[in-house]
Amino acid sequence: MAAPRTEGAEEMLSGSEPGAAPYGNFPNYSRFHPPEGRVRLLPPALLRRLFPAGPSPLLGLDVGCNSGELSVALYRHLLGLQENEASPDQPVVGKILNLLCCDIDAALIERAERCSPFPGSISYATLDVMDAGARELFLSSYLSRFSRSTFDIGFCMSVTMWIHLNHGDDGLVEFLTYLSSRCNYLLIEPQPWKCYRAAARRLRKLGRNDFDHFRSLAINGDMAERVTQILTEDGAMELVCCFGSTSWDRSLLLFKSNRLTQKQL
Ligand code: SAH
Repeated sequence: MAAPRTEGAEEMLSGSEPGAAPYGNFPNYSRFHPPEGRVRLLPPALLRRLFPAGPSPLLGLDVGCNSGELSVALYRHLLGLQENEASPDQPVVGKILNLLCCDIDAALIERAERCSPFPGSISYATLDVMDAGARELFLSSYLSRFSRSTFDIGFCMSVTMWIHLNHGDDGLVEFLTYLSSRCNYLLIEPQPWKCYRAAARRLRKLGRNDFDHFRSLAINGDMAERVTQILTEDGAMELVCCFGSTSWDRSLLLFKSNRLTQKQL
């Protein structure tokens, strides 16, 4: 008997226009894939545990932030701020976090900026993270403002599939390798393989071609496992823990750079 299907955002969005969202840049993404389902899996004291003596401010990078709903929810959750609390002046966890969020879609970034409750601590930028020159220029110059060369923590939530479909196996490996070189900790929520099939199916229904790379992807199957292999096989990172699966069957994986000597969870 077939296992019951748990619908993910990319599957539920089948009524929308995928041609207009070839990067997963759906304008109403968080309605289908609510931030709460993910942040509640993360221990509220995570930042204290990862950075007991931490640098200050902590620097975070959210890659593929869409219109920022998850970025704000992560920020609130990790700093222990209540839903309607607008001031990060006295963060419960005693940490200051500067979060840089980027997305390829300028309209989504414009909306994120307009709606941001924390303009002083969360910044947004339009950036194609697969444009090596642009990302290096932009991220290095952001980090250099703090005299740093790496982010303390990176977030890559429901983005790997879009990078993989649009840039192939080599693109996915290059992307993850880059993140591992720039982030001391990395939280990743990879889309499972069934989402790839659903994304390709949606495109076919509209009479469009498959994503360029879909049929030739040799990296496939258990995507949480594959992403873990890529990040750990050359010893760049190690898997710290898996925070369990969301109701739509996605794991939240936390990796730590082996450049670090900080205490493990
Ligand atoms: N992280 C958010 C949104 C995920 S949707 C969440 O989990 O709720 C995937 C996002 O990745 C989209 O907004 C899309 O525009 C962005 N994205 C895809 N490819 C990208 C690229 N090359 N550079 C930057 N952002 C990208």
